[in-house]
Amino acid sequence: MRIIHETLQYPFSTSPEFGTTMQVAPGVYWLRMPLPMSLNHINLYLIEGNKGWTIVDTGIRGDETRDHWHTIFENCLGGKPVNQVICTHMHPDHTGQAGFLTDLWRAPLLMSYGEYYQTRVMNSMMRDGGHWQTSEYFQRNGLTEDFLTQMAEMRSNFTPEPEDLPIPNSYIRLSDGEHIMIGDNSWDILVGSGHSPEHICLYCKELEVIISGDQILPVITSNVSVSPTEPFGNPMTSWLESHEKFKKLLPDEILVLPAHNEPFYGVQARLQGLIDHHEDRMLILEESCVQPQIAVDLLPHLFKRKLEGASMFMGLGECIAHLHCLMTRKRIERTLKDNVYYYRSIDPNLAERATPGRHEEPDDEPMLI
Ligand SMILES: [Zn+2]
Repeated sequence: MRIIHETLQYPFSTSPEFGTTMQVAPGVYWLRMPLPMSLNHINLYLIEGNKGWTIVDTGIRGDETRDHWHTIFENCLGGKPVNQVICTHMHPDHTGQAGFLTDLWRAPLLMSYGEYYQTRVMNSMMRDGGHWQTSEYFQRNGLTEDFLTQMAEMRSNFTPEPEDLPIPNSYIRLSDGEHIMIGDNSWDILVGSGHSPEHICLYCKELEVIISGDQILPVITSNVSVSPTEPFGNPMTSWLESHEKFKKLLPDEILVLPAHNEPFYGVQARLQGLIDHHEDRMLILEESCVQPQIAVDLLPHLFKRKLEGASMFMGLGECIAHLHCLMTRKRIERTLKDNVYYYRSIDPNLAERATPGRHEEPDDEPMLI
């Protein structure tokens, strides 16, 4: 169990049952949908406007989520329609029902440019087979052909079924710094990056709430990964920069409405805790690379449990994201030998910076998709 040194307050003693809603701020309602994995739920939100409702995030594909949506529509909308659907980012637990919801209500989809197109690419990629770039990415980081076979099976599990309507063919773009009106309240669009390329959060100053998606979560840390699609990406640097940006923008009094676990107070402590967590992970990696190391051999330093399938994909991606951030800081160098990458610490001040006994335990929390 990872310990993050911070104190968060959780104001709600219960969470809504599937198919029900719970008011968490004036006109803002919390609902949950099931997820078929160790992280077993996602939080979605409904915001009441004067003439209709805004849905924020949609749940994963499949009949079970659709059935819960129908129950909510029958019991919780007070006779008003849904008039827009917002997805914070591309991941399938957030966008899986976007096609269903926008078709049912003939309502527009609102997303950032980067997330909308990334969703369309992800939908079509699931139907493709493997290619040499993907194989090369895994081989260079120390994984074998067996893992590539596992990945092919996993991809087929995520392929949308015909009854899961695809992401709509049009959308309305949301950009960082814009405001949208819902009812009488203005909501600021704040964009973060690292977990996904252009993740939207919705911040309402009047109500003192932020719907944070996966950008700010309590309890677990969002997966920040290099992926085979962008093998030289540097998402960890973007992630840390986003947290610094959000620290400047957000007052500590606001209620954070996250996509997983419970709403909480303590945003400043949480943002700093997440920065400290990743800085600590990077110091661990640096200390582990005094002798040259392959990425896959570094995983036990970061994750307590054995990783396989999807969790290996995300765990390895996160390890590489940390290593790439260290490379840009000139604290690690990488060499390619026999088509495998070796990472080695190069900072002469490493011994001075290292603080024995400071490190958190390896991570044992469920991972995000
Ligand atoms: Zn996500």
